[in-house]
Amino acid sequence: MNTEKVVSRINDIYDKTKQDLIELVAIPSVSASSFDQTQMDRSAEWIAAKARALGLTTEVIKIKTESGLVGRPAILATRVAEPGKPTVLLYAHHDVQPQGKTELWDSDPFVAEERNGRLYGRGAADDKAGVLLHLAAIEVADPGVGITLFIEGEEEVGSPTFVDFLHKYRDTLKSDVIVVADSNNWKVGVPSLTTSLRGVTQLDVKISVLDHALHSGMYSGPVLDAVTIASRLIATLHNDAGEIVVEGLEQRDETTVDYPEADLRQDMGLLEGVQLAGTGSLTSRLWTKPTITVIGMDVTPTDVASNTLIPSVKFTLSMRVTPGQDAREAAKALEKHLREHVPFNAKIEINLNEAGPSFQAAQTSPTTELAKWALKTAWDVEPVDIGVGGSIPFISDLAEVFPEAEILVTGVEDPDTRAHSENESLHLGDWKNAMVAEALLLSRLGE
Ligand SMILES: [Zn+2]
Repeated sequence: MNTEKVVSRINDIYDKTKQDLIELVAIPSVSASSFDQTQMDRSAEWIAAKARALGLTTEVIKIKTESGLVGRPAILATRVAEPGKPTVLLYAHHDVQPQGKTELWDSDPFVAEERNGRLYGRGAADDKAGVLLHLAAIEVADPGVGITLFIEGEEEVGSPTFVDFLHKYRDTLKSDVIVVADSNNWKVGVPSLTTSLRGVTQLDVKISVLDHALHSGMYSGPVLDAVTIASRLIATLHNDAGEIVVEGLEQRDETTVDYPEADLRQDMGLLEGVQLAGTGSLTSRLWTKPTITVIGMDVTPTDVASNTLIPSVKFTLSMRVTPGQDAREAAKALEKHLREHVPFNAKIEINLNEAGPSFQAAQTSPTTELAKWALKTAWDVEPVDIGVGGSIPFISDLAEVFPEAEILVTGVEDPDTRAHSENESLHLGDWKNAMVAEALLLSRLGE
C-alpha cells in the first residue's frame, strides 16, 4: 500500500481510535494488587473484543506458573502470515500505574480530556496509546504479514510471570520482528527508535576490621574504622573527574543527539554550582557508559552515634552496564576491582544480588532501515536513535528468549508525557504519526 493511502486510511479511523482510547482510559486497570483487579479483566476483555473484530484469533490468558503465581490477564491475538511472509509480534501493556495524588491532576485521571493537542489521563500514553496504536496499524496495513498481538497486563508491577509466559507460549509468540511500543520519542515532533538500554547489576559488599566495636578513645590510631576503609575503597572506583576506573568495564562515547547541559541541569534539579561528573557527551554518560552508585549503607545513624570504632559495615553498589556488555561479566570485573583495592587488607565479602542484561539493537539491518524510513515518512523528520539509561527488563527477556527476532523499540511518549506521574498525557499529533509509521512498516514487511 502506498504512503498516501496509509495516511488517508489512518485519517479515516483516527477519530474512532481516539474515542476508543478515551473508553479504554475510563477502565481503571491498575495492576498494583491493592487495586480492584476485576478492572484488569474488563480492560483485557475490551481489548480482546477489538482484536476479534479485526479478525484475529484471540484469547485472554491468566497464566499459572509452576511456583503457583497467577498472572494478570494478557491478550494474545494472532493472524497467520501468508506463505513466505514474516510474522510481527506487537507488544504493549494495558495495565497502568495508580493515579497518584488526585488533587494534583488538572482533570479526572480516568476521564481522558483533550487540551492543547494532548490527551490527559492515566494510561493515555503509557501504554494504552500503544495498545490502540497497534490495533489501528493492524486495521489499516496490508494483511499479508503474520500478526501476533501480545498485550501484557502486569508491566507496571515488574512483569512477575512474563518469562514463564514467553516460555509457555513460545511457539505462538515466535516471530521475525518484535515491535515494542512502550518507549519514548526524543521530543515532540522528533521520532525515535530506542536502540540501547544499559544493563544493571547490584552487589552487596561487607567490610570488616574488628570482631567487636571498640572505644575510639582507647584504640583509635592503629586501626581505621570499617566505614573509613569502605569509603576509601568506594573512592577507588572513580578518578577525580568522576570517570569510572574499573578495569574490564566497557565504555562507549556515542553522540546521536545533543542534550544541552543547561537542560540536563534543570531536568535533574542539580544544585547551583555543582559540577558534572564524567567525560564525553552527556547522552553517552547517560546511555552508553557504565556507572556505579552507592545506593545503601548500613551504618550507625547520627542520632545514636557514640565514640566507637565501627567494626564492620555493609553497603550496596548499583552498577549500570554499557549496552552490549554482559552484566555478569561486568559484575565480575567490579568484584575483582573491589578485592584488589580493599585497603589495609580488611576483610571483604561480596554478594551479587542482581544482574539484568543490557540491550543493544542491531545498528544497521534491513528491518531497522525500514523502520527508520517509516518513521521519517510519517513525521517528515529524520528519526534519531536514543538510549535509555535504565533497563527495561522485559525487553531483555524478549531478546533472550527470542534471539533470532529483531526487536524494534518504538513509543509514543515524549518528555512532557509524565508517565507514572500526575497529569500524564499523550501528544495526539505524534500518536497519529506513530500509527502511520507502524501501518507503513507492517505493509512493507509484507511486500
Ligand atoms: Zn509502559
